[in-house]
Amino acid sequence: MIERVPRYLVPFHPKRVPHRFTDVLIIGGGLAGLRAALAVPEAQSVLVVTKSNLRQSNSSYAQGGIASVLDPEDRFEDHISDTLVAGCGLCDREVVEMVVREAPERIGELIEWGTLFDQQAGSLALGREGGHSHHRIVHALGDATGKEVMRAVIDRALSRPNVETWENAFTLDLLTGDGRCQGALVWDAVHGMVLVWSKQTILCTGGAGQVYRETTNPEVATGDGLAIAYRAGAELRDMEFMQFHPTVLYIAGSSRSLITEAMRGEGARLVDRNGNRFMEAFDPRGELAPRDVVSRAIVTQMERTRHPCVYLDLSHLDPAAVRARFPGIASTCAEFGIDITRDWIPVRPGAHYMIGGVTVDNTGRTTLSGLWAAGECTSSGLHGANRLASNSLLEGLVFGAHAGARAAVEAAAIEDSYRAVPLANARQEEGVETLDLADIRNSLKSLVWHSAGVRRDRDGLLEAAETIDHWCGYVLPRQFDDVSGWELQNMLTVAQLIIDAALQREETRGVHFRTDFPAQDDARWLRRIAFQRGE
Ligand SMILES: Cc1cc2nc3c(=O)[nH]c(=O)nc-3n(C[C@H](O)[C@H](O)[C@H](O)COP(=O)(O)OP(=O)(O)OC[C@H]3O[C@@H](n4cnc5c(N)ncnc54)[C@H](O)[C@@H]3O)c2cc1C
Repeated sequence: MIERVPRYLVPFHPKRVPHRFTDVLIIGGGLAGLRAALAVPEAQSVLVVTKSNLRQSNSSYAQGGIASVLDPEDRFEDHISDTLVAGCGLCDREVVEMVVREAPERIGELIEWGTLFDQQAGSLALGREGGHSHHRIVHALGDATGKEVMRAVIDRALSRPNVETWENAFTLDLLTGDGRCQGALVWDAVHGMVLVWSKQTILCTGGAGQVYRETTNPEVATGDGLAIAYRAGAELRDMEFMQFHPTVLYIAGSSRSLITEAMRGEGARLVDRNGNRFMEAFDPRGELAPRDVVSRAIVTQMERTRHPCVYLDLSHLDPAAVRARFPGIASTCAEFGIDITRDWIPVRPGAHYMIGGVTVDNTGRTTLSGLWAAGECTSSGLHGANRLASNSLLEGLVFGAHAGARAAVEAAAIEDSYRAVPLANARQEEGVETLDLADIRNSLKSLVWHSAGVRRDRDGLLEAAETIDHWCGYVLPRQFDDVSGWELQNMLTVAQLIIDAALQREETRGVHFRTDFPAQDDARWLRRIAFQRGE
């Protein structure tokens, strides 16, 4: 069914569009993309394209922090083992070791570039999060780490004379010819379509949370890079593993803000609409059980009480301490008339982190020659079947640095040619077709949420696959002339891959919970599911 996906979203002819040449093209300006840009020597040109402004990325929204062994009492072996335990047998041990051992160096350079991490008694304040056996999370601005890290990294990247950024520039597709990636087709409102030819290309397009109705991810996270790589023939894997965050603010009309698990750490109780505390009936660790356990318990309790959410109750805690510890959440809730020291906060789970993505080796090399990838759009083998908290910004830093450096070395070995490579694009110009895109987008998000959300089963997945296949049948062959159409086409492709992988994996592992196969089945499933588009 996934074979319906056309090679390119739109027709283009090299004689009718402007051309641009660069040594290294980086698609995505989040932490992974900018770290990659900073790894390219100043003698080589770098073009970074982002579909929105540089501040709109999952990286900017990151709250808790970045994991690294920095306390003399902590050990690399413990961070490695915590990561492997979380990954439920599917982590690549070599990759885990590499990332964990490199973390202090990557944090050190962020500090050198001006990141102000929170301090305690003159040294870095180290937090602890679920699944970590030690205090090892550096954070900034309390719970706004991404904002501060991105401020410093954006400043650093913009100060580089060889790095050019195109904001509000949407990448539609990778260009492939002569058996390799040759650059990308990029559109913006000022220039229209541009063929960007690059000696090496690095994909850093982030996550896919927007494919789900409930998500912590910003609008830009529509999984474009996953669909783009798939159309170009690169391998993707682990697409069934979407991590859900259990407590996302649920107020109609508000953005779905993440309510940090630190709130439960401070004693907040989860209650249902009747005021019953329910977590202990599901897990002896109660509110502090792992994220996937809490997410499943919440969904079950919502069903039992026939109510669209559950609530966090902090009314038994000291009001002054609550306000001081959670100023951001207090002010967001206050906008909707909720006083978090007195009123219950409505929450439900939401899609949070896409574990699956473009297959990369430990240098960020994909299976398509000339294409590299880093960050949330990849499957590097670090997370396995479940991501350990605060390991993902770290992954973006480590793989961004590797991919940028390696891509630069390979770009340096290629002569400048300033020639357009012959491309095979079978698409012909047709009239732009109109459809109620918002209607399909909302229906898709709802369907994926219900069928491939916190709990899955064969019947629900099969029904969703059939419906999405039907939508693909008339949406994918159409030609659109704006971002909303292209994003919808990408979201449909990503949804197909998620659902297909979730159907195939007939077991429960990590974040993938099959109600019809509730046990982990190592005999059959201690392996990855990969996809590659056939020609
Ligand atoms: C609310 C929240 C809190 C989080 N907290 C933490 C935390 O505390 N610690 C942690 O380790 N992780 C955390 N994460 C996860 C972490 O933020 C992400 O995994 C990480 O930032 C991903 O970085 P990235 O560079 O791969 O992608 P992003 O930062 O998402 O950047 C993607 C970039 O790609 C661009 N892009 C996408 N599609 C296109 C296209 N078609 N054309 C052009 N450009 C495109 C976007 O514009 C953007 O610039 C959190 C995530 C969220 C949402």
